[in-house]
Amino acid sequence: MLADKDRIFTNLYGFQPWNVDAAIKRGDWDDTKALMARGQDAIIDEIKASGLRGRGGAGFPTGMKWSFMPKEPRDGRPNFLVINADESEPGSCKDREIIRHDPHKLIEGALIAGYAMRARAAYIYIRGEFIREAETLFAAVAEAYDRGFIGKNASGSGYDFDVFVHRGAGAYICGEETAMLESLEGKKGQPRLKPPFPAGAGLYGCPTTVNNVESIAVTPTILRRGAPWFKGFGNENNAGTKLFQISGHVNKPCVVEEAMSIPFRELIDKHAGGIRGGWDNLLAVIPGGSSVPLVPAAQIMDAPMDFDGLKALGSGLGTAAVIVMDKSTDVVRAISRISYFYKHESCGQCTPCREGTGWMWRVMERLRTGDADASEIDTLFEVTKQVEGHTICALGDAAAWPIQGLIRHFRPEIERRIADKRGPAPMMEAAE
Ligand code: NAD
Ligand code: SF4
Repeated sequence: MLADKDRIFTNLYGFQPWNVDAAIKRGDWDDTKALMARGQDAIIDEIKASGLRGRGGAGFPTGMKWSFMPKEPRDGRPNFLVINADESEPGSCKDREIIRHDPHKLIEGALIAGYAMRARAAYIYIRGEFIREAETLFAAVAEAYDRGFIGKNASGSGYDFDVFVHRGAGAYICGEETAMLESLEGKKGQPRLKPPFPAGAGLYGCPTTVNNVESIAVTPTILRRGAPWFKGFGNENNAGTKLFQISGHVNKPCVVEEAMSIPFRELIDKHAGGIRGGWDNLLAVIPGGSSVPLVPAAQIMDAPMDFDGLKALGSGLGTAAVIVMDKSTDVVRAISRISYFYKHESCGQCTPCREGTGWMWRVMERLRTGDADASEIDTLFEVTKQVEGHTICALGDAAAWPIQGLIRHFRPEIERRIADKRGPAPMMEAAE
């Protein structure tokens, strides 16, 4: 279990105030100028050495992403940092806690990351529904300006750096990085084709890096404590500490910072009070937010909670939003509801997603009620394969994968419903 002294987010539960004085007492803004004086390339090298991988879900190496930014202005265009606080993945609620209780870690991280990437400013794009969090963030940014931590000659470094907070308007797709850039530019939030990646052509066509809140908020601590300290948690390809969000059928749902690669059972027993009704009552787990396939109980018990360990099980760490389902769960209904979510949130720009998400949801609903032909299970699986990898952004994959996981692991339950058309059984077991 992660020792208290190794936690980055020491105010995760808001036991202390979020304000700048309390943040300074916790160690934030402690000689930020000296951190910056190490130099831009040295900061990027340290983040690379720490093994930090993007905490927004995809796990792309953060230091490498930063190194894609041009070191000299390209055609006189400034570099920008965009921070993705549009946390909307069902099950995910970690960035919200950082903004509520530790916003200065994010703002200091923005300055350091922005400086390392030669960015002129950071735009924090915050989910529209996060009304109180936005109020906190606006106030924290104002405090940071008042103290001279950001703005002209930020933290006495000689570097000018602005931070702008932009509120979203409630579209899930604006959490996709290029849709976010479109939205920031005042356009309809629809993903762009990649490449070019944002470092080539981002906000207003300028070199831009889009990073998740948690990825940015951990960087000051990594620099203060050193890359080897951060790399000392987890394993070679899955380093550091991580915020896990545990919801569903556990005794104590929570958000907790733990070492990457902690085994699933240990994570749940130590922090979430175990499974409701005991471990024998566990049916399945969605380990990384609604975009990743579920994993049946027997397979996940001893699994390391990291990118590679969960990938080996045909799932993923995603945002580490761990959704626990006990045997009272109607698992077909749960996945059908997730299908509806993606149908609803599709931006409609590309055909496989626009048509496929609606089609898949309608079939899922008929499988839920048993009002389908058994051959449709294979047809549905085939269609998910046609959607996966054939769309502009990852929403198509996110709509396909949960259905694939359901068919892979719970096919007998779907077949049973079709056979007897009786609807959900009270207790279910995974097929493997
Ligand atoms: P992605 O793998 O396409 O990209 C990840 C990041 O790496 C992006 O910033 C991208 O620009 C960069 N990148 C990838 N390949 C690159 C290359 N060759 N050159 C330069 N940069 C490159 O994934 P994505 O679409 O950004 O994210 C998908 C993930 O988002 C899903 O796995 C899901 O878990 C997560 N997600 C999170 C939320 C949330 O609320 N946090 C919501 C929806 C989805
Ligand atoms: Fe829009 Fe879906 Fe295509 Fe993404 S995959 S661009 S959400 S239609």
